[in-house]
Amino acid sequence: MGKINYMKPKAKFKFNNGNGALLCSKCSVIIKTGRDYTKEEKEAAYGDGYLEPQYCNKCKDELQKS
Ligand SMILES: [Zn+2]
Repeated sequence: MGKINYMKPKAKFKFNNGNGALLCSKCSVIIKTGRDYTKEEKEAAYGDGYLEPQYCNKCKDELQKS
C-alpha cells in the first residue's frame, strides 16, 4: 500500500473472482490464467514484484518484425 507507482512498462493483469489472468500488454488478449502463473508472474500479479510487459505470440511476431 502507498507504494509509488512509476510509469515503468509492466505486465498487464486482470482480476476476476481471485482467478486472475495475464494479458498481452498490446492487445489485451489473455495469455494465461492464474493457475498457470510462474512464481514471478504470481508475485507481480499481487504487486510484490516487477514483471516486464508480456505479449501474445501475434504481437511478439509484430514486435520482432518492426
Ligand atoms: Zn497481443
